[in-house]
Amino acid sequence: MALKILVTAKRVEDPESKIRVRPDGAGIVTEGVNYKVNPFDEIAVEEALRLKEKHGGEVVVASIGGDKAMTEIRAALAMGAERGLLVRHDGPLDPVIVSAMLAKLVEREKPDLVILGKQSIDDDQNQTGQYLAERLGWPQATFASKHDSLESEAEQKKQPGLALAADGKALAVVREVDGGVETLEVVLPAVVTTDLRLNKPRFASLPGIMKAKKKEVKELPSAELGVDLAPKVVIRKLSEPPKRQGGVKVADVNELWAKLHDEAKVL
Ligand SMILES: Cc1cc2nc3c(=O)[nH]c(=O)nc-3n(C[C@H](O)[C@H](O)[C@H](O)COP(=O)(O)OP(=O)(O)OC[C@H]3O[C@@H](n4cnc5c(N)ncnc54)[C@H](O)[C@@H]3O)c2cc1C
Repeated sequence: MALKILVTAKRVEDPESKIRVRPDGAGIVTEGVNYKVNPFDEIAVEEALRLKEKHGGEVVVASIGGDKAMTEIRAALAMGAERGLLVRHDGPLDPVIVSAMLAKLVEREKPDLVILGKQSIDDDQNQTGQYLAERLGWPQATFASKHDSLESEAEQKKQPGLALAADGKALAVVREVDGGVETLEVVLPAVVTTDLRLNKPRFASLPGIMKAKKKEVKELPSAELGVDLAPKVVIRKLSEPPKRQGGVKVADVNELWAKLHDEAKVL
């Protein structure tokens, strides 16, 4: 029943940083911006660790990017993943290329399960997991969530949100859908993408951080994977939302209603 799980850890701008669009609209200002593991990927790592702790097995963390993506791999290793894979690639990346590279890693590693974030908070494409499942011909469950709130007893005991069937051949996945939750079962091997409410990722302990320094991280150049690296999706322009206007104070509900009705015309 032991599971081999491949998880991804993308390096993204820290959501706490103030993100500004470059004046030419060709990207964001990167000076002074901090980076971290994509929050949805931290959730993926946490869930993989919980499954491993319950059923045994191995968690392998992969990142595709420049030298600095090693920091995000080490962060996942410090949480408890066993080993890392860094695909070195300095040019632009889109979900078509990333999923093709991940498919090659899956062919080499042969995991039972791949867990990715449902989206990365920088590019917001929400495509990689879906492309990957299609490339592999595997079933997929997107937006994995949980029945219980994050403060539930189950959460405190760190139960996996994803439940492995008794015979180890399928995985039950709870998904948030409009107005409720849906539970479905995917036959393994499968691809799962994580939503925000699946778990609360653990903090890396000091011993975990020390151990992570010695864990194996295999590095390979992206060219070695034999994937067409020409971008298929190109961001042509970014623009900031319109500046917010200052609000007004109203004296009472009647004045508020009149403004909403007569000026904003939303009632
Ligand atoms: C808070 C929030 C609320 C939103 N609400 C709405 C809404 O109400 N309606 C709506 O239409 N849209 C909404 N969106 C936007 C929409 O969800 C996004 O367009 C989409 O989900 C994001 O896709 P992505 O680019 O992150 O996916 P991808 O880039 O495909 O990333 C998915 C995963 O692929 C893996 N991956 C990608 N690149 C790498 C790499 N280089 N190395 C390793 N792993 C990698 C990571 O695991 C990553 O988590 C919202 C977005 C956010 C952040």
